[in-house]
Amino acid sequence: CSLKRTSQQPWQEYSPTTKLFIDGKFVDSQTTEWIDIHNPATNEVVSRVPKATQEEMQAAADSCSRAFHPWAETSILSRQQVFLRYQQLIKDNIKELARLITLEQGKTLADAEGDVFRGLQVVEHACSITSLMLGETLPSITKDMDTYTFRLPIGVCAGIAPFNFPAMIPLWMFPIGMVCGNTYLMKPSERVPGCTMLLAKLLQDAGAPDGTLNIIHGQHAAVNFICDNPAIKAISFVGSNQAGEYIYNRGSSNGKRVQSNMGAKNHGVVMPDANKENTLNQLVGAAFGAAGQRCMALSTAILVGEARDWLPELVERSKALRVNAGDQPGADVGPLISPEAKVRVNSLIQSGVDEGATLLLDGRAVNVKGYENGNFVGPTIISNVKPEMTCYKEEIFGPVLVVLEAADLDEAIALINNNQYGNGTAIFTNNGATARKYTHEVDVGQIGVNVPIPVPLPMFSFTGSRGSFRGDTNFYGKQGIQFYTQIKTVTSQWKAEDAGVSSPAVTMPTIR
Ligand code: NAD
Repeated sequence: CSLKRTSQQPWQEYSPTTKLFIDGKFVDSQTTEWIDIHNPATNEVVSRVPKATQEEMQAAADSCSRAFHPWAETSILSRQQVFLRYQQLIKDNIKELARLITLEQGKTLADAEGDVFRGLQVVEHACSITSLMLGETLPSITKDMDTYTFRLPIGVCAGIAPFNFPAMIPLWMFPIGMVCGNTYLMKPSERVPGCTMLLAKLLQDAGAPDGTLNIIHGQHAAVNFICDNPAIKAISFVGSNQAGEYIYNRGSSNGKRVQSNMGAKNHGVVMPDANKENTLNQLVGAAFGAAGQRCMALSTAILVGEARDWLPELVERSKALRVNAGDQPGADVGPLISPEAKVRVNSLIQSGVDEGATLLLDGRAVNVKGYENGNFVGPTIISNVKPEMTCYKEEIFGPVLVVLEAADLDEAIALINNNQYGNGTAIFTNNGATARKYTHEVDVGQIGVNVPIPVPLPMFSFTGSRGSFRGDTNFYGKQGIQFYTQIKTVTSQWKAEDAGVSSPAVTMPTIR
């Protein structure tokens, strides 16, 4: 493959084997079970990742536990300094981080840089921790009495990440958890661990003490370890519904806080009064970018009224996208993560045909010269889709846009509100009243008005809802700080020396 790991760094050395990161050291696993990591553009093995042993996972959790009190007691200004240095190191290494993402995940290099950049913004926001962690005070709630709160870390926290954003999603997790004073056990996706390992090295270089971040690898056993280990107080999960529901249930039944961001089916509603040029470009970019492997991909279009006449132009623009290996100049759409994902996407496309939809653009036979073994599917558009069809009900997670039609806005809103997911949606319109009605009536957690992928910046939170989320506090922003902290409330009374309590009060103290 054209993308080989070149530099010999401590986290990789010469061996193409992903290390564990335990107690500040990048170490080889002693396991006998390994998973091959493939370049999705070629299917060549580029590395292998261990399924960490129980002893290794326990060593990682113990390291987090030992590091917790010293880190929680480190001054908030010192923790802030670590993350101020960290954001600079991420900026300095953005190209190398992106290269690792493209190598293991397949997305284009430009898109991979965007992946790092969106995570970097979370780290930059974490540097405001001195404001974000402020408590509250209420003086003189009664005579000589004040109440104030501290926002404090909760202990060892853990993150379980998906394959589709190897930088951004881990960076939603450990920087926010750690800047609050928690220590962190991270399990990256076993399909794309390389980027997380470099992020760990950079965090160490930024001055994070040994044990504050540990990294384990694996699949089910690692997930179960995290759900069951009593030292772990909170779990952040991002990935599929199957895993997310399981982790939410198992983790919370063990008394842990769990936030679980899961699958999606995001609808883009196109009103006939929208700016056509802008809308079609936005739709094509948001449906096929990252080969549709984004939880906020706009994978479903609802054309309202006369907007249905725009379909031929939608097809023309989609056809023009260049499908190629992510490191090739000019590539728009890279490969899917695995041959299994390609088989699954192709079969969902076929299900649309079998169930009576119209295949307007078929990307299944795409031929990428020089990358014949890659997991490529070209942009695909299925129209005349009905809500009961499999290609509508399932999250496809590939470069496939399914198109439905609606007579009016009410019909479009009803369709969306009947769908199980509530991650994101967008409306394209030039009418303010239409946009307002939509944003108020649609039951989806993140809404774009003429914005196709409305992922909130980190001063807000990622607020997917309904079937796309389990838990009660979201990722990053104020909600993220709340997830990773607990409140201690102090009520104190300082009376002048001669104004003490003259006799014992045995009734419930009432504060008036
Ligand atoms: P995945 O659920 O297969 O894997 C996510 C993590 O869970 C991995 O670390 C994996 O090791 C673990 N895992 C996988 N199967 C498991 C199981 N059965 N039991 C326990 N753990 C398991 O998800 P993925 O394929 O890596 O990612 C794609 C999915 O993630 C899509 O559904 C996408 O919509 C979703 N996603 C959601 C968001 C969001 O914020 N809502 C963001 C990105 C991706």
